Amino acid sequence: MTLKKICFRLEIQVVIALILAILAGMFLGDFVSQISWIWVLFMKLLKTFLAPLLFFSVLAAVLGLGDMKKLWNIGIRTMGYYMLTTTIAISTSLILMNILKPGNAVSFEFENFTPDKIESLSFSSFLLSLIPDNLITSFVELNAMQIVTMGIILGIALISYGKKEEVVQLKTIAETFSGWILTFISWVIKLTPLWVFAIVSWVVAESGIESILNLLPFVAVSLLALGIHSLITLPTMWYFIWGFDPFKYFKKVREAILVAFSTSSSSATMWVSMRVARENAKLSDEVVKFTFPIGTTVNMDGTALYQAGAALFVAQVVGIDLHFAGQVTIVIMIILASIGAAGIPGAGIIILTTVFISIGLPIEAIGIILAVDRILDMFRTAVNVWWDLLTAKVIDSFYVKNLDNGKTEKLKLKVIEEKSS
Ligand code: ASP
Repeated sequence: MTLKKICFRLEIQVVIALILAILAGMFLGDFVSQISWIWVLFMKLLKTFLAPLLFFSVLAAVLGLGDMKKLWNIGIRTMGYYMLTTTIAISTSLILMNILKPGNAVSFEFENFTPDKIESLSFSSFLLSLIPDNLITSFVELNAMQIVTMGIILGIALISYGKKEEVVQLKTIAETFSGWILTFISWVIKLTPLWVFAIVSWVVAESGIESILNLLPFVAVSLLALGIHSLITLPTMWYFIWGFDPFKYFKKVREAILVAFSTSSSSATMWVSMRVARENAKLSDEVVKFTFPIGTTVNMDGTALYQAGAALFVAQVVGIDLHFAGQVTIVIMIILASIGAAGIPGAGIIILTTVFISIGLPIEAIGIILAVDRILDMFRTAVNVWWDLLTAKVIDSFYVKNLDNGKTEKLKLKVIEEKSS
């Protein structure tokens, strides 16, 4: 790769912006305060289209399941399976953040923000909090849980109400809307070096370089959690439950994981994942066609793990008391919000904004985390894609080998019939 190409890489630009920002923050305090409006602009751009993006992404994911039968038979099971593993991912992150407490060493004050307890939700208040007084309120308040719930409910209603062609048309419309907004967001993301410069220089000028160095323990704990989840917990569980060697499988599909790592986009990697799963790992074409499009949209273990860690880290930084029930609330919110995260660079931190708003954490903290987000994005995207690949392998072993194109199922029915006669 030529030097010119290397310098064009966003990660490299972010690192350069980070270094320049630290120097500017240390030596050019006046200049930094004059450009602090850039950070306000970033916050505004981040929030502008967040609600419709979340809504249309979830709606498109539900409509993508097609009809009611498919929704119940495959959709609910697949979603249940994804939610289970996402819960394991989030729990790994929360356990490590609770034990190692990287946020306790950092203190940072945000204007107009008073730390408060995050309310734990009782079952009834949890249910009530999912439903907005009206759809517009949930958009205005950027309430992620309510927006996602409405997306799911309306998606199911559309599937049961509309004809198949109408569902396909509406899915295309929902995808067009989210794609449209994502184009705008990708412009915002392309300017990440500018945001990082404005935010980090301001933070360094206000609170000293320590506030940035203090992010290093957060980076270390996030990487540790991602590593434990993707290299130890899941492969071990899958080895014992499904009886295949995840590491042998990893060797066959590693090309896709490398692409995910270098592009930070699971959507962009999807075609590579499908190819290696089909050609190198010899998974069935049907399973590949079904699992990857859903997995890429819904299954974001790496992102959810990172978001949970970031929420707890910020709660520790601002001194919010997050007891067990409060953390359960975060788990539920992040499971729902990660469904709405698109497979593009930086999507995780954008959706995290809605989670922060809903649970009452300062969204200014998103700007601070942005300094290290780009690097962590590469790792969490690799985990997202590894998990999509593992899921495809599991479904392939389970459906294709066990059901043996229906023969085993028919066999089972025959045995039951024989027994009952
Ligand atoms: N970049 C991630 C992906 O494409 C999403 C995220 O930002 O967490 O899977």
